[in-house]
Amino acid sequence: MMGAVVAIDGPSASGKGTLAKKIAAKLGFAHLDTGSLYRFVALKTLENNLDETAPEKVIALARAVHQQLVQEGLSILDTDAIRTEEVSVMTSKTSAIPGVREILRDIQLGFAANPRRHDGSSAKGAVIDGRDIGTVICPLAEAKLFVTASTEERARRRHAELRDRGLPDSYEAILKDMQERDERDRNRPVSPTIPATDAFVLDTTDMTRDAALEKALQILLEKGLE
Ligand code: C5P
Repeated sequence: MMGAVVAIDGPSASGKGTLAKKIAAKLGFAHLDTGSLYRFVALKTLENNLDETAPEKVIALARAVHQQLVQEGLSILDTDAIRTEEVSVMTSKTSAIPGVREILRDIQLGFAANPRRHDGSSAKGAVIDGRDIGTVICPLAEAKLFVTASTEERARRRHAELRDRGLPDSYEAILKDMQERDERDRNRPVSPTIPATDAFVLDTTDMTRDAALEKALQILLEKGLE
């Protein structure tokens, strides 16, 4: 029997991660950032000098990651090494491999069925953010949000975030990378980044983070989640 699931999908730098964390804290649910699962597989791919042109080998790496997650828990994902631009670009390629998605789906369903916080304590529900949570992974989720913003605004946010972390990159380069990644994520045959028909689309282009959170909590309240 699954606890309540809040599915939060959307493109990169839409603010869905921050929103998911705050919603999880507010509801007392456990949070899973599924992007970090795909990123971890991409990191292993780069470390092994592989790429998406060897899908069977990448699938074998995904299997090994699955094993490692079962043995060591989700805290292995808490590393800055998965946040580089190089890993971001590789992730949007290796995440399009159906065999990789199948293996990581298992982990996500396990989390939805038995949500645990990073300290190992169990929670009464899950907030899961990604690209296909409301469409493929948890189509019966209690609440679905699709968080988005214009590409320019998302590139501006990523630019500011990298600058704050002391990893400056040019706005133009970030915008171009983002456009290419969006294109791959949106147009891939498996699990494209599109809103579920029953998702609430939250466009945060002209919203502050607080206003976005307030709106999201209002939608969840309407779904009986508080
Ligand atoms: O959310 P984040 O930007 O960390 O995701 C990185 C990449 O991982 C995305 O560009 C996408 O290709 C992939 N991803 C995915 N499905 C998810 C989460 C992330 O394909 N559920």
